[in-house]
Amino acid sequence: MLWADRIASEIREKHKPRNGESFIIRDEKTLSGRVHVGSMRGVAIHGLLSEVLNEYGVANEFRFELNDFDPFDSIPGYLDAEKFREHLGKPLYAVPSPQPGFKNYAEYFGDEFVGVHKRAGFVPNYYRATELYQSGKMDPYIKIALERAGDLRRILKEISGSTKEASWLPISVICEKCGKIMTTRAYDYDGETVGYACDKNPDEIKSCGHTARVAPWKGTAKLFWKVDWAAKWIVQGVDVEGGGKDHSTKGGSRDVANHICRELFGQEPPFDVPYEFFLVGGKKMSSSKGRGSSAKDMCDLFPPQIFRLALIGKDIREQIDVDPAGESVPRLYDWYDELALGVREGKTDDYSRLFALCALPKDRTALTAPWNVRFREVAFIVQMPHLSLTEEAAKAKGSALTKDEETALSERSQYAKFWLSTYAPEEFKYQLQEKMPEVQLSDIQKKALEVLGDFLEMGERNGEDLHLRLHELKTEIPIQPKELFQAIYHIFLNRDSGPKAGWFLAGLPRDFVVKRISEAVR
Ligand SMILES: [Zn+2]
Repeated sequence: MLWADRIASEIREKHKPRNGESFIIRDEKTLSGRVHVGSMRGVAIHGLLSEVLNEYGVANEFRFELNDFDPFDSIPGYLDAEKFREHLGKPLYAVPSPQPGFKNYAEYFGDEFVGVHKRAGFVPNYYRATELYQSGKMDPYIKIALERAGDLRRILKEISGSTKEASWLPISVICEKCGKIMTTRAYDYDGETVGYACDKNPDEIKSCGHTARVAPWKGTAKLFWKVDWAAKWIVQGVDVEGGGKDHSTKGGSRDVANHICRELFGQEPPFDVPYEFFLVGGKKMSSSKGRGSSAKDMCDLFPPQIFRLALIGKDIREQIDVDPAGESVPRLYDWYDELALGVREGKTDDYSRLFALCALPKDRTALTAPWNVRFREVAFIVQMPHLSLTEEAAKAKGSALTKDEETALSERSQYAKFWLSTYAPEEFKYQLQEKMPEVQLSDIQKKALEVLGDFLEMGERNGEDLHLRLHELKTEIPIQPKELFQAIYHIFLNRDSGPKAGWFLAGLPRDFVVKRISEAVR
């Protein structure tokens, strides 16, 4: 059974919604910059569970928090550090947007991330962290956390081994003078107000020295994140919330938040769905440093159904690894084609289920799985100016393409061109050499080419004919296969490797091939 069905069935069979009506599924992301594609795994897992529960007729709501209240703690490399330095330490909603047209920094990066959700077909209900705080909804839990700061210190010590001073309080106050939240230290809660001093300088973020008392309600202060996390579960009545496996270890943040939820707020934490990482080129999230590692960059590489396959195709216990600059891009398309083939053959299994879940929910009822040319072949053909993609596709299929197939092929060619112009590695880039490149061929290579040239001169040859002839030459000349193929790639593409040689040669104009071979053996 596919992971989404396995988990959704477990939720349906073993759990009841807290509000008695509808399961609340929640996820969140702090908008500290361009969002890494790793964060899309959470969106996809929660989003797909919501879709599958809907399919089962189980009422649920997927809520996504755009966290705009966490502190701005570092300046991403793609922003002007001089311009943003003065804002370090402020809550994200108080930092200006890098571009005009957005209310603040968090809204700017949130907008791009939400755009990716939409393209992938996930449509949660959004809210902001500031809405929860400024409306006063968090206040009862801030009160409990302040009153029971001693218990919190003990939980932190017991579960995660961290020690806090006796005066420690579980909130960060926004300094009324400088507006920073990272530089303040709160102490002495008197039931209505807390004392605070703006005197911490984390990571060289400058404090202003202000001290005062403030009523920590309605968004003037924020709970520390593990308490904040547990309080949000209660405020929102969250039933299901997963998290990356880095949070899910014993003594990790989820473990601490679970204890806080039970002990301080007297409720069971939500059903957990711990999941593995989404790596980019074998590397973990490094907050979008690498090219192509942001959610937006990765989403742009694929049509929605294949982006969804990347996100949901593997079990949540397995790592995902996609390298925009590697073989994993064509491999994802191959995987999708394999699923489509199964569907066309009428199979009903986990693979056909996965294929259906890759489609957007609205397209799932009238599901089609059109035949398509392999991505790597499309990527080759679009680079050969003399070849028509539809003609080559019809040849490969053995009959004319249907309307659906033409649409799918045309979409694939657009993505292949985009990939070739952005991330594709050199071995996928081919340029047919207009003129004979500078190459050194051995006598054996020349001999083999000469025989091949004669074979072509005798009449029209298709890919299969040429393929068989090339195989015969290996023993006939004799020549090592590597030497033979390299000679062909060298004289036509000026490189060591290339597509399947027989079909490649058959796709080129015969006169051109004959002429090039005669030049090469001269
Ligand atoms: Zn200050």
